[in-house]
Formats: sequence, structure tokens, C-alpha cells
Amino acid sequence: MANSILIVDDDTAIKESVEEYLKILGYTVKSASSAEDALQILESFHADVVLTDIMMQGMDGLELTMEIKKKHHADVMVMTGYSAEYSYEEAVKAGASDFIFKPFRFEELDLRLKRVLREAAFKRERTKMLKDMEQLAITDALTGLHNSRQFFRQIKLEIQRFNRYSRALSLLILDIDFFKNYNDTWGHLEGDKVLMGIGRVISSCMRSMDTAYRYGGEEFAIILPETGLKRACVVGARIKDLIASEVFEPEPGVKAVVTVSIGASELNRDEDVTSFIKRTDKALYKSKESGRNRLTYS
Ligand code: GH3
Ligand code: MG
Ligand code: MG
Repeated sequence: MANSILIVDDDTAIKESVEEYLKILGYTVKSASSAEDALQILESFHADVVLTDIMMQGMDGLELTMEIKKKHHADVMVMTGYSAEYSYEEAVKAGASDFIFKPFRFEELDLRLKRVLREAAFKRERTKMLKDMEQLAITDALTGLHNSRQFFRQIKLEIQRFNRYSRALSLLILDIDFFKNYNDTWGHLEGDKVLMGIGRVISSCMRSMDTAYRYGGEEFAIILPETGLKRACVVGARIKDLIASEVFEPEPGVKAVVTVSIGASELNRDEDVTSFIKRTDKALYKSKESGRNRLTYS
């Protein structure tokens, strides 16, 4: 896609010749005769770079630069005459990415524009890479749910929030029943498919504030903010029943079913994270003890 440039200059001759030249080079170009007009145009026109004169009637180019940096993602390049009293430092301080003296050769302008555009693309790529890496660091690769590291971080945050606003907070911990058997019978890869399937079921039951985690190898946790025990048990029971009704096919023609046991609890006043998790784990253990494929609350 062609890069887009907005030219801002109250000198019509310069504005028109630069516009003409940049169009020939293949840029998408718009122009404005004042900073005010430029801001108006930017409301509906996405510019990669705004090329602005500094000395203009009304708002000047440096003010315009600051306004643009506040509201838009565009890079700004300022143009000025040698005699002008504005310095390169001032332009950079205002947020400009580059500075060019008038009169300039069009070739120089093109080279500078290309450099600004390249740097912007590089910065975007780096930001995306960092975001992807952050996402990877908190994601479980198999199920796409959050990982256990993120679980501990998040539950501590939720407990802080609970203490500050005294809103209910509940926790569900799930463990697959007789999963060792499943792996031993059908193989680890088929076991992995079960883990993925359970991840999908859990995700389908999440409300926007809930977060789900692969807490251990075959254990899952769900944090339910603003949720009391009763409601948490309803969500847990729904997940349990949906998992039990999911049919896996570890071999062609073979139908297999897995169940999960669940522990549910609501955070007590003055309870710390360790005790909260331990209490939920104990409830899970009771579900196991009393026959599996069930939910116990504590
Ligand atoms: P219980 O009902 O008491 O929970 O029995 P269980 O067999 O599920 O429990 P146990 O703790 O004996 O075994 C857990 C099994 O989970 C053993 C291990 O092979 C399996 N497991 C743990 N992580 C993974 C994984 O990433 N992939 C697969 N396929 N299996 C896993
Ligand atoms: Mg287990
Ligand atoms: Mg298990």
C-alpha cells in the first residue's frame, strides 16, 4: 500500500510543487494551507508522515507537531528556511522525526521521507514483537490458556482488588480423572488432544472478566472475579458436564470420554493466596475421594 503524506504549507507554490512531485513518486498525498486545516484533515485521513512548514499564520508548525503527536500516530517532518529562528532541537523536542531546510532538492526530501518511513516500520515491528513475546511468556502453548506463572501473578492481583473493593472472588481448580490411564491406553499425543479439548470447553464458558489457566500438567484453574461461591459452582458444574459430554476419538471408530473433578471456593476475608489455593485444592481432593466427576465446594 502506498504511504500517505500530508503537506502543510501556506506558500501555495511550494505546497503544490511538493505535492506534484510526491504524487509522481507514488505516495498518496493531501495538502493543507494551515495547521488548523491539517488537523481537520487528519480527523479522517490517515497520514504516515505530515510534512509541515514551521512559519505559518495562526498555529505554527511546531504547535501543529505537538498537537499531532498528542492525537495521531503520524511522524512529522518540518521544513524551514535557513533564516528562520527555529532550531533542529526545538523541532525534535516538539516531536518531529526529521527536519529539512528550504529550498531543498526533491531527491533529498524523498530520501528523508523514506528513512522516516523505514524507521516507523521498524518501530512498529519491534513493538509487535515485544507484545508477541509478552503474550508467549504468559500463554500455555498447548491449550492457548494462560500458564501457571500468570495464574499466580493474576490471583495475587485479584486478591489485592478484593481487599480494596471487597468484591467477591472465587476460584475453581479442575483435575482430569484417571488421566494416566488415558495416556497409557491411547498415548501421550491423544492425551494432549484431550487437554486441548478441555481448554476449548473452559474457554467457551468464560465470561469477560474470568481468566483460565493450565495450572499444572493436567490441572486447570479459573479465576472468577466479582463472583460468589454459588455462581462459581454453577459455572464449574457447567464445565464439568460439558467436558463429560465431549466425545474424543483416540483411534478411528473408538469413542472415549473423560471426566474432571473440581474444587470450588470463595475467598474469605483476610485469607491469603496460599490458603485460598490450598482450600480449593482440598475441595478438589474431596471430589476425587468421593467418586470423581463431581464438584465440591469449600
Ligand atoms: P486422578 O483421577 O487421581 O487425578 O488420576 P490421574 O491418573 O489423572 O492422576 P495422576 O496424577 O496419577 O496422573 C496424571 C497424569 O497426567 C500423568 C501424566 O502422564 C498426565 N499428564 C500430565 N501432563 C500431561 C501432558 O502435558 N500431556 C499428557 N498427554 N499427559 C499429561
Ligand atoms: Mg493431577
Ligand atoms: Mg488427574
